Amino acid sequence: MPTTSCPLDCPDACSLDVTVTDGRVTKVRGDHRNPLTRGVICAKVARLPEHLYGAHRVLEPMIRTGPKGSGTFAPIGWDEALDLARDRINAAIAAHGAESVLPCSYGGSNGVLTEGSFDRRFFARLGATRLGRTLCAAPSGAVRTHMTGRFPGVALADVVHAELIVVWGNNPHATSIHFLDRLREARRRGARLIVVDPRAIPLCRDADQHLALRPGTDLPVALSLIRWFFETGRADHAALDRWTTGADALRARAAPWTFERAARVAGVDPSELERLALAFAGAHPAVLRCGWGVERSRCGGSAVAALLALPLVAGKQGVRGGGFVMSNSGAVPSHGDVVEPPTRRVNLARLGRALTELTPPVSVLWVYNNNPLQTVPDQERVRRGLSRDDLFTVVHDAIFTDTARYADLLLPATVFPEHDDLAPSYGAHLVSRLTPTAPAPGLARTNAEVFVAMEARLGLSRPGDTTTADEEARRLLTATPHLVEGLDRDGVAGPYAAPPIPYVDVLPATPDARTHLVPAALDAEAPAGLYGWIEDPATELAPLALISPARAETVSSTFGQLAGPAPLEVHPDDAAARGIRDGDAVRLWNELGAVEVFARVTEKVRPGVVSLAKGLWGHHTRNGSASNAVIPDALTDVGEGPAYFDARVEVARAAPPTP
Ligand code: SF4
Repeated sequence: MPTTSCPLDCPDACSLDVTVTDGRVTKVRGDHRNPLTRGVICAKVARLPEHLYGAHRVLEPMIRTGPKGSGTFAPIGWDEALDLARDRINAAIAAHGAESVLPCSYGGSNGVLTEGSFDRRFFARLGATRLGRTLCAAPSGAVRTHMTGRFPGVALADVVHAELIVVWGNNPHATSIHFLDRLREARRRGARLIVVDPRAIPLCRDADQHLALRPGTDLPVALSLIRWFFETGRADHAALDRWTTGADALRARAAPWTFERAARVAGVDPSELERLALAFAGAHPAVLRCGWGVERSRCGGSAVAALLALPLVAGKQGVRGGGFVMSNSGAVPSHGDVVEPPTRRVNLARLGRALTELTPPVSVLWVYNNNPLQTVPDQERVRRGLSRDDLFTVVHDAIFTDTARYADLLLPATVFPEHDDLAPSYGAHLVSRLTPTAPAPGLARTNAEVFVAMEARLGLSRPGDTTTADEEARRLLTATPHLVEGLDRDGVAGPYAAPPIPYVDVLPATPDARTHLVPAALDAEAPAGLYGWIEDPATELAPLALISPARAETVSSTFGQLAGPAPLEVHPDDAAARGIRDGDAVRLWNELGAVEVFARVTEKVRPGVVSLAKGLWGHHTRNGSASNAVIPDALTDVGEGPAYFDARVEVARAAPPTP
């Protein structure tokens, strides 16, 4: 039975058994080559045959024949399509220079070969505008770069050794089912569980404590805990002296944050903060699992930094199952080695501005592994940009996404069981080798094939270039020979014989091998300094905090064509104040736009907070917009990530549909 691995934007990178019948994938199951995922996969990838062969699959190159956004296309041959793309790129360069070409990709496939090798080589040689791929992990990535360098956290498999697990801003039922496995095993061994999240996520049913913070207040709460450890004499000064720099500066910045002040900002009782502090202080080992919800607000980078620092201050590091874990991607090689020229850079989080305001303008947009109309903030501005008559948009995608409706040229792409790739996991310390298990339907081509063909058409090919994904995989792996044998044998390999214990088996990759608690670069970048607080952006007209968490049916917007709609979750107090009943059609809006969906009145969200899942497509809502229609393109304090959870909105019952 053919095997491969899942490269989707998920920490787990499950290894997969693929059943192929008559040249088509008919079943996908987990296999046991990945020791973290142990034969279990999520329901969405179990439905992969519907994704591969469903009505939304793009089967042949197409050219737009109707207005942008109408989704009206006619077939065109591959040669004709790529010649047209070449001509439009040459025309854009002649008129405005090569920076008028903008690549637009993200985590539709997290593979190294489908994103980060041939594509970057092509756009670098072209001299195109560079893309800041910031939608997720940019703030936490900046924090990691400056505080620890590439440095793994607690291995997810080691969570079973913890006496206490604090899950902060992470919903593993939706995004990390194998962490959930280990968490349950730890619970069976007697571990306590604390959840910090504005919503009552499924994990709360089993938690000893649930702290429902107002969105964006993780920073003051984390600082109040740090302050408490210092002020009560519980800080581990020996560990701080041995493994860190900047402890005194961190202590000074945490000093104003008493439990009372932090609790007032976060909308919780101060006693709840003390309860959490006492539980964390008294448990050995204790692990703090930080999720990506923490970074998605104006102080998100500082919040992640404070949570990274907290287990060090509390003396939880240096034992198996104790410390901090967020991403473990630092353990294995990730992307290729393309050196990009110093052309202008566009932050993907501000794609709408780039498409509508830049001079020289973006004349050619090349979208791949990405559905930016549904995943980038300020959706209506992105839509206006994609609607420009003078913009030539290429979309190379396997699925007819909402963004594809705005393509001038729509090219059929392969999906991961149909091509070669290398997929690093950011949950386990592993990398997987993907090989094709079945032919792609129709005329789909890989990213590698398309970018190599475009290099040839534009005179950018060079002697010695790799031209196939397999060649490129072997070239990249020469830098990591210790992985090759395992990858050739099992398709899955990692650099460690056993999960490393941070600060024991592996030290931070900083020049002095210490964690820098207040790095100068982050301090200079953050508008209020690192750990500086910025007040909530709510206004009288937009008093409710909107969060847009992940849901189990999709990976961001991937699989959106198969998923059903999602409701807006509203607390009963907020619903009653607005005359909203469960199941009502509601409109949420602010100065940027509006979304119309159905309401679910529920105590799962705290008062003052509404929740609408991320990754929705136009067909999921009454007006074709998604949560990004009301999410501003404001950036986080460090890392220039989108502050998705800083959207503030008002909600009301919507007018009934016109008969
Ligand atoms: S999306 Fe995540 S849980 Fe699902 S198969 Fe892929 S790696 Fe595994």
